[in-house]
Amino acid sequence: MQGNPIKKSPCESCGACCAFFRVSFPTAETNDFPGGLVPVDMTLFSDKTHRCMKGTQTTSPRCIALEGDVGFHVRCRIYENRPSTCRNFNMSWENNIGNRLCDRARIIFGLQAFSRY
Ligand code: SF4
Ligand code: SF4
Repeated sequence: MQGNPIKKSPCESCGACCAFFRVSFPTAETNDFPGGLVPVDMTLFSDKTHRCMKGTQTTSPRCIALEGDVGFHVRCRIYENRPSTCRNFNMSWENNIGNRLCDRARIIFGLQAFSRY
């Protein structure tokens, strides 16, 4: 399946957050629940009330939905149906608000941080 860009550039050439953090979200967001969107077969139970994207629970995380090479060109295979955690994760300074987690993930992959803290 051809995916869509994770976000508008520069996220399209990054993807660090999808390969660094555990991506967990409320269980009801999976598509085995009414109104749920996230493909349940791409997830694992995280705890009683949350699931996580497969691949992000490991010590070397990489989301199962991530395509491409981090730091070069990436796509999210489930962009339209991604979890709220991803929808709410903003690129640092995208809306004039810093996101230390975005910057941290980028630094880990040798990418320039947007930091202006
Ligand atoms: S780490 Fe930041 S810049 Fe990179 S994909 Fe995630 S939100 Fe976008
Ligand atoms: S679902 Fe998509 S946006 Fe969310 S972590 Fe996975 S690849 Fe990234």
